[in-house]
Amino acid sequence: MFLDIHVHTASNSDLPLAEGEEVVATPEQLVEMFDAVGIDRAVVLPLVTPENAMLVQSNEEILAVADRHPDRFIPFCNIDPRLHKNSADTDLSFVINHYKDKGCRGIGELTSNLYFDDPRVQNLFHHAQQCEMPLLFHVATREHDTYGLIDDFGLPRFEKSVQAFPGIIWLCHSQAWWAFISGDVTEDEWGGYPKGPVVEGGRVVELMRRYPNLYGDLSAGSGYNAVSRDPEFGYWFLNEFQDQLCFGTDVWAVGQRDDRLIWLLEFLTDALARGKISQAVFDKIARKNAESVLKL
Ligand SMILES: [Zn+2]
Repeated sequence: MFLDIHVHTASNSDLPLAEGEEVVATPEQLVEMFDAVGIDRAVVLPLVTPENAMLVQSNEEILAVADRHPDRFIPFCNIDPRLHKNSADTDLSFVINHYKDKGCRGIGELTSNLYFDDPRVQNLFHHAQQCEMPLLFHVATREHDTYGLIDDFGLPRFEKSVQAFPGIIWLCHSQAWWAFISGDVTEDEWGGYPKGPVVEGGRVVELMRRYPNLYGDLSAGSGYNAVSRDPEFGYWFLNEFQDQLCFGTDVWAVGQRDDRLIWLLEFLTDALARGKISQAVFDKIARKNAESVLKL
């Protein structure tokens, strides 16, 4: 069985996330999709920022979803760094602890379009560390992305944050993170889904080796592309970082049942069947690493 580290749902809205997109799936629709493929639990991430979204929801909506299906959904709270006073000295521990007491296991997905080293973002990191809450974030490029925490090519601002807040468990996600699996990514490809053989020297490998508190969120096209674009490299990567990788889908719509719901799930299942990864490695990535991060 799989534990999915990254999904979205909406219980009381028929708005799509963006114009021309599908309507966001209800919790019941997600449960039905999960049952069909063997996902028994999922972390559900509130969509609280307006960037790239027609739909802005509350942490309370996601807590109610988790209440309705306590054996299926694990709630995160999402905290916008601009909350309350739009200032770097807002006591965000107050609000984080409020949601932690209600059962939230982490913070995210952070999508505010601010620099990693913006003082308000650094303030959020400080309070996340104080409250011992893992952070799931979307990395953005300044040039190509309209949402996510912004970094420069090579992720220097993120690395400085990791050094400044060594107590945080970072769940790293998005194209601008996973494109750096390869050492030859260019500024033009960064933020996309570069294909082909992975070249040594990728920043993802370097950073995950240097900081054991960095975890790869393998969800969405970005995570799947990183491990599947060069399968032999992908198997090596899954083995090498078996303690720092979490299965995920980033599923949020019914129409995704034939693509992002199953991409990674089938890749991992096939890797296990062909002996490319052991049962122990499979189990860690499928659920055990997430269980330890989430203290389940
Ligand atoms: Zn997401």
